[in-house]
Parts: sequence; C-alpha cells; structure tokens
Amino acid sequence: MIEERTAQLQQCMYQYSRAIYRSVKDQIDPYADRQTQLESRRAVLEACEQTMERLATDPLYFAKPDRALFQDIRRYFPITAQAQVAWAVQQGVTAAVDFIQEQIESGLLDGGVARCRATTRKGKPCQRTPLPDRDYCPSHQHLEARAAA
Ligand SMILES: [Zn+2]
Repeated sequence: MIEERTAQLQQCMYQYSRAIYRSVKDQIDPYADRQTQLESRRAVLEACEQTMERLATDPLYFAKPDRALFQDIRRYFPITAQAQVAWAVQQGVTAAVDFIQEQIESGLLDGGVARCRATTRKGKPCQRTPLPDRDYCPSHQHLEARAAA
C-alpha cells in the first residue's frame, strides 16, 4: 500500500515538474546554437525534477523551493525572459507545494524524517532527531517547555 502511494505521489510530482518545464522551455535562450539549446533544456528539466523530488521527500524543510529552482535555471534564459520565467516557476512550484501540503494534512504523506523544530544560532534549521514524541532534540528541549507555557 505504501509503495502504491509512493508511486502515485512520484507520478504526480513528475507531472508538476513537466508542467513547470513546459511553461518555461520556449523561453530558453533562442539565439544559442542547437546543441547548447538541447543541453539547456535537459538541464532545466533535470532541475525541475530534482526540485520536485526534494519537495516530495523533504517537504517541511525545503525553504523557498521556487526561489531555489529559479536560481538553478535562470542562467539558461535571456535577461528579457527572467521575470516571466520567475513567475512561471513560482506558479508551478506553488501548485506542487499546495498538493504536497494537502497530502500531509490528509495523512497520506508524513513530513519526511522528523527533525528538531529549533533554529540554530546561525539561522539554520536544527538537523538533530527530536526526543520521542517531542518536537525538539535534547539540546533544544527547553524550547518545548517555553512553547507549552
Ligand atoms: Zn535541536
């Protein structure tokens, strides 16, 4: 059953990545030679797929996935197409994020590996495993007490 759900989810994520790719592929540098264009297309498609894959496996810890994807692919587009590509990427990624969120809320997908909810002093999410049935790791467990109070 779990395998079936995973396969279904992967299929959906694949469709989202194809949709994003289709919405931007015609904007890829039109003055590049054919070989470069093919390589750019492949790179853009791969970046879309990787983003969707990461969204599906680590949805709660992937901050600003639309910006991350745009940063990865923007060099393949002429300056005049940047705004349009950024918008298309944002639309496509938002749709995928909403879909994943629905899956999590309906309990069809867990939020990936459990991690401590705290933010480190460097502003990065804490990567440690929380205590059993808790939201925080041993070194951040004082934050839980504060949240409960
Ligand atoms: Zn922690």
